[in-house]
Amino acid sequence: MPAPGDPAPPTTAHALANDDVRRLVGKYRTQGPRYTSYPTALQFLGMDEGAAIARLETAAAREDEPWSVYVHVPFCEKRCSFCACAVVASPERDRVSAPYVEALVRELDLVAARIGRRRGLAQLHLGGGTPTYLEPDLLARLYTEIDRRFESAPGVERSIELDPRVTTPWHLDVLGEAGITRVSLGVQDLDEHVQALIGRHQSAECTRMLVEGVRERGSFGVNLDLVYGLPGQTLATMSATVRDVIGLAPDRVALYGYAHVPWMRGNQKEIDEQELPSAEARLEMFLAAREAFLAAGYVAIGLDHFALPTDDLAVALHDGRLMRNFMGYTVAAGTDLLGFGVTAIGDVADVMLQNTAKLSRYLDVTARGRLPTEKGLHRTADDRLRGRIITDLMCRHSVDTAAVARDFALVGTDGETDDDRRAAFDLRFAEELARMAPMLEDGLVELAGGRIRVTDRGAPFVRNLAMLFDAHLQGPALEAPSTPSEQLLSISKRPLRRHSSTV
Ligand code: SF4
Repeated sequence: MPAPGDPAPPTTAHALANDDVRRLVGKYRTQGPRYTSYPTALQFLGMDEGAAIARLETAAAREDEPWSVYVHVPFCEKRCSFCACAVVASPERDRVSAPYVEALVRELDLVAARIGRRRGLAQLHLGGGTPTYLEPDLLARLYTEIDRRFESAPGVERSIELDPRVTTPWHLDVLGEAGITRVSLGVQDLDEHVQALIGRHQSAECTRMLVEGVRERGSFGVNLDLVYGLPGQTLATMSATVRDVIGLAPDRVALYGYAHVPWMRGNQKEIDEQELPSAEARLEMFLAAREAFLAAGYVAIGLDHFALPTDDLAVALHDGRLMRNFMGYTVAAGTDLLGFGVTAIGDVADVMLQNTAKLSRYLDVTARGRLPTEKGLHRTADDRLRGRIITDLMCRHSVDTAAVARDFALVGTDGETDDDRRAAFDLRFAEELARMAPMLEDGLVELAGGRIRVTDRGAPFVRNLAMLFDAHLQGPALEAPSTPSEQLLSISKRPLRRHSSTV
């Protein structure tokens, strides 16, 4: 029974009726990657500084191409009990912040020494942790040091993640001066009971004031991050949060599914499992939230984002330019990505490179003038082919099989037609297409006109479809999902949030 004053749950006028939801969740629920890359970080092997230097020097030759840059600030004052990010919890800001920024500056210098005159920026993002854990003067210093080594042309997206609880007006002034164009605010859930259960108190007023403070300072795009599947959440509480978030008129909303992995993240042991919503309730929440954002005029972007039709992501989706990288959906992918800081991942000249996850090691290695690369992966030709299919599914919910066969030369050029190309694709992926049969029968995907197309009712299950094309997963994804502990070992920027329950 809803409590007095609770908002009425939304009607379920979406593509899945309740009985359908229960059946499909039972059939397709598994753990899976969020495919911010393919292969995922799960497949990373040991990689040393020499390999990283070789890739940087190879990429340096493409002087006219810009870089995407990601900088990881791992610190938070206290760890929220639901969090699965790569975080260093420390209340001692003064002790840890300055040495870390010094180490970042050293890493910037080490990389700059290898990339010659290729210094243009296509995208800059600061994530964490909590980047505004750094005091405003240190944050300003970090931007100054980045801008000494890279050149931002007008229109380049410069974004940062903000925790409304620690971000001050002075931080916002720094962001204005640094030319930041987009901020992402962690909201998670506005319900006070849910916030108590996840150890993160952040009043609706605190969130609203930061949104207003951001807007007063200029034309920042505002993203709000929500999480469904948290303890204490119900369809009613989630709907109330979504309603209030829509009232703040963000340009984008990210709606992530909570991954409960206490065997991997000790802080999650504080969460009472009895309070977690069922798998069916999770999907109901997701679908209701999706319906509410669409009704409010937002455009669904791939798996879990919603954007106003005027937002860059929505425009890129419309134009077929939407891509995905370790920072999530982006319009700037296709450029090489440099990652700075603890656990940061780069993607340079077809090789993924990851820095050490240990703060002490990061500080020590950079102090000795060495790059802190510790893991990575060289993509094979098969990885590139499958990566293209998975990106098309995640970004466009559609794969043009003839275009893939043409771009990856699956058929010879003599007398080649689209029919030849489709036949070549079907032959190459005969096994994957055969394993798609249950999803076809359930109306989650269609094969027509040489396209694999995810239907509206199949959208929540797009990762299950992508997993069919993932050659690195053990066994058929639908019948024998790989174990959660294996799957969740991904150490991307936000490892577990990006590798969670598929529905
Ligand atoms: S949820 Fe955000 S603020 Fe909380 S511990 Fe994780 S990164 Fe830090």
